[in-house]
Amino acid sequence: SEALLEVDNLHVSFKTHGGEVKAVRGVSFTLNPGETLAIVGESGCGKSVTARSVMRLLPEHTSRITQGSIRFKGRELTQLTEKQLRELRGSEISMIFQDAMTALNPTITIGEQIMEGIIRHQKLSRAEARRQAVEMLQLVGIPNPELRLKQYLHEFSGGMRQRMMIAIAAVGRPSVLIADEPTTALDVTIQAQIIDLFKMLQRTTGVSIILITHDLGVVAKIADRVNVMYAGQVVESGTVRELFHQPQHPYTKGLLASIPRLDTDRGLPLAPIPGTPPDLFAPPAGCAFAARCSHAMEVCSAYMPQPTPVTGSHEAACWLQDPRARQAFQTPPKIS
Ligand code: SF4
Ligand code: MG
Repeated sequence: SEALLEVDNLHVSFKTHGGEVKAVRGVSFTLNPGETLAIVGESGCGKSVTARSVMRLLPEHTSRITQGSIRFKGRELTQLTEKQLRELRGSEISMIFQDAMTALNPTITIGEQIMEGIIRHQKLSRAEARRQAVEMLQLVGIPNPELRLKQYLHEFSGGMRQRMMIAIAAVGRPSVLIADEPTTALDVTIQAQIIDLFKMLQRTTGVSIILITHDLGVVAKIADRVNVMYAGQVVESGTVRELFHQPQHPYTKGLLASIPRLDTDRGLPLAPIPGTPPDLFAPPAGCAFAARCSHAMEVCSAYMPQPTPVTGSHEAACWLQDPRARQAFQTPPKIS
């Protein structure tokens, strides 16, 4: 099927007092209609920046897409004006954040916030917008929607706030939902309910989801495909099955080894792999994981490994996957 979203060789930099941070370094991926793509990795790996780049929700003066393309339904998003982007946000691509309290306006009723989007995007009357708002609150499992519309954010529990944010994001019937750590602040039971809600929304509306998370337990429950990011790059990508059962990149293997059990209710926080990610002011020329990798070869720190196919749906950017390095690696020493 035709991809809905195609990100190609995306580079994003941030200006800081210390210099330019290369937060995203050549990220490529596609998102197909109706699927859930998870982007996983430790904090600072560039997963949120990648997702926010799609909606151009990055700090205007300090961040810059320096290279690459983001195509959505055939349109080049990196070229859109702020006005065009505003029309796209909410109606075509919507974002869900970890914390509803900071993402939504606590001084405006829930009803006004949800109806505002409907009226703006669909140009409907207030009465019709109100009807749709009630319907959406029902869909996301909020009881007494008529009453709830008149309330403020602080009158809702954590789980209900998250449902509310999902309702506001979904009410414009976008084709893509980008959810950045949507369940991280929630307790186990509520987290499971929110995951079910995403699945239900996807079944009923066919929406595609990009899920940003550090929680592999959540990934196992909801995603179809996974991109593993490290130091601003995608180091491995594949179906959930491939990534969980046949991980190829030493970093992915390390991540998986750090979760004791995948079938627990909540994936445990990732136990640290020894060492730290490289400095993205001056990223290494070769593999960014080399300093932490027990398989590192000479070629690894000299040249950057390129994404190499493992299967038709599975790639790893690691020299161990590259037949040239493998040959060199496996050639027995010459006896002269
Ligand atoms: Fe390890 Fe080399 Fe693969 Fe990087 S390219 S993950 S250093 S084996
Ligand atoms: Mg983040």
